[in-house]
Amino acid sequence: MKKLYTFTLADRAEAGLLKELLEREGVACLVRNEQLFAALGEIPFLECSPELWVIDDEVWPRAKSLLESWLKEDITSTPWVCPSCGEKLEGQFGSCWKCGKERDAMRGTRDEKP
Ligand SMILES: [Zn+2]
Repeated sequence: MKKLYTFTLADRAEAGLLKELLEREGVACLVRNEQLFAALGEIPFLECSPELWVIDDEVWPRAKSLLESWLKEDITSTPWVCPSCGEKLEGQFGSCWKCGKERDAMRGTRDEKP
């Protein structure tokens, strides 16, 4: 198991979304420290930073390049339009709150695939 990325507290909403996106790409991963947010205030901030870990070291380089491309395009802060119902959504939503359609994880990365 290898650490992929450490999120800042401001980025913590991204942790879950990026984990979802990686899993859709077939990369098994987990977020550590996520559950500590409930106890925020009692624990020093540094210990609360969520960390994204890749379970299988062999896919780490692939996970890293996927993550970098998502971070570069700022996938979690770019507003998007639901392909199902046309609702406009803020970037932090992983799925449409109106109809439940999941955000297309491949959006914007499809062209870079071989
Ligand atoms: Zn929708």
